[in-house]
Amino acid sequence: LKRVLSGIQPSGHLHIGNYFGMIKRAIEWQDKAQTLYFIADYHALTSIKDPQNLRQYVRKIAMAFLACGLDPIKSIFFRQSSIPEVHELAWILASITPFGLLERSHSFKDKIAKGLSPTLALFSYPVLMSADILLYQSEIIPVGQDQKQHLEIARDIAQKFNNTYGEVFRIPEPDIQEEVAVIPGIDGQKMSKSYNNTLEIFGDPQEFKRKVMSIKTDSTPIAAPKPIQGSILASLYKLVAQPSEYEEFIESMKKGGQGYAYYKKLLLEKLNAYFKPIRERYKELECNPGYVDEVLADGAYRARLISQETIRKVRQAVGLLD
Ligand code: ATP
Ligand code: MG
Repeated sequence: LKRVLSGIQPSGHLHIGNYFGMIKRAIEWQDKAQTLYFIADYHALTSIKDPQNLRQYVRKIAMAFLACGLDPIKSIFFRQSSIPEVHELAWILASITPFGLLERSHSFKDKIAKGLSPTLALFSYPVLMSADILLYQSEIIPVGQDQKQHLEIARDIAQKFNNTYGEVFRIPEPDIQEEVAVIPGIDGQKMSKSYNNTLEIFGDPQEFKRKVMSIKTDSTPIAAPKPIQGSILASLYKLVAQPSEYEEFIESMKKGGQGYAYYKKLLLEKLNAYFKPIRERYKELECNPGYVDEVLADGAYRARLISQETIRKVRQAVGLLD
């Protein structure tokens, strides 16, 4: 069985970009591979500085992933910080990682441009992410387009390690799907927890509506045909509608006669219908906090069996173990 791994940061509330870009495919892999999914709480420290918030987000992201269909029997579901070996590996990998490789990171530059503080941890994020992947000998990594470069860095580091110390790591491959590679946020940029442009799946319904109604459009008059190219409304509608419904939506926009509010309402209805069962499961999980703790504890136990085996090999390979 192939080993599939992915993670999500508890850096805010789960949004539809996370869902379509990663989670949905992660869930599909459960029946075809050995799957490991984790809550990247160490990574989230780069943006969340309030401990109470971090605790809350961890819990909410865990419930969200479960509500979306993560099966804790099929998948190993755990918190990144439950596995201390990841830091030992990150250090060892950092020792062979060229500085220049990280200096080229788009994600680092984007996040600084968005006002995150340029800490050492934010800079070395791709090294910790490489450790996340390599520690579990993962082969397939379902992610969004924004992670493509990080995956390339992880591959480079794995290759460099293997060339330096002998074959220890499998070389991971990204699983990125073009149609859902970059889900736009309500402002048209990549939807991101830290960009304040998200449609949160499990938030307040009124707020959800307000955000859908505030999706960025141009000022085309009501009667005029609407541009499809680059339309955030059309791209989001496509995710949650049947192909024939999507065709109708596009045809109607091309024809004109309706204002944007009309299309926003159609989108809102479709989104709500799509996420209804998932939101119901989330509500049930909210009533059962003990269950979430148990799942994460069991996942940590299972993940650690793998991580300890890898770290032993790594120590031996580099000369930290006789
Ligand atoms: P942050 O802003 O804190 O980085 P995020 O919203 O980018 O948060 P992450 O936890 O970094 O979310 O990413 C989790 C997964 O979701 C990753 O695989 C990432 O590629 C994917 N993802 C995030 N945003 C999008 C998006 N807009 N479109 C497609 N995939 C996305
Ligand atoms: Mg991100």
